[in-house]
Amino acid sequence: MTSEPIPIICVACPKGCRLEVLRSEGDILVNHAGCKRGQEYARGEVTDPRRMVASTVKVLNAIHPLLPVYTSAPFPKGRIRELLAEIRKVELKAPVKINQVVIENALGTGIDVVASRDLE
Ligand code: SF4
Repeated sequence: MTSEPIPIICVACPKGCRLEVLRSEGDILVNHAGCKRGQEYARGEVTDPRRMVASTVKVLNAIHPLLPVYTSAPFPKGRIRELLAEIRKVELKAPVKINQVVIENALGTGIDVVASRDLE
């Protein structure tokens, strides 16, 4: 039995194709994708949706009190709230270097949270 069509807008490139995903007994069919990347994007969205996460952490003795950070790879969407709670607990001491790991292997996902800039 085939599921109701799931509409998804592909964000893998600026073209923004309007995709339609149908699930049928372990199979996933993607319609209207302009390329293979869109097919993969839609499959990921229905089986394991992920997002890049950007936030800030506190830094002591720095020229700014907050440091922008981001995930090193798209993070499981269902665990983003939990990740943000972990990020809020972090307190660094200046100086911080760009790409410095702020949280290693966040929530056991293998994904790091890293600094997006230097902070003296
Ligand atoms: S399906 Fe391909 S062409 Fe269409 S938006 Fe996605 S990446 Fe771009």
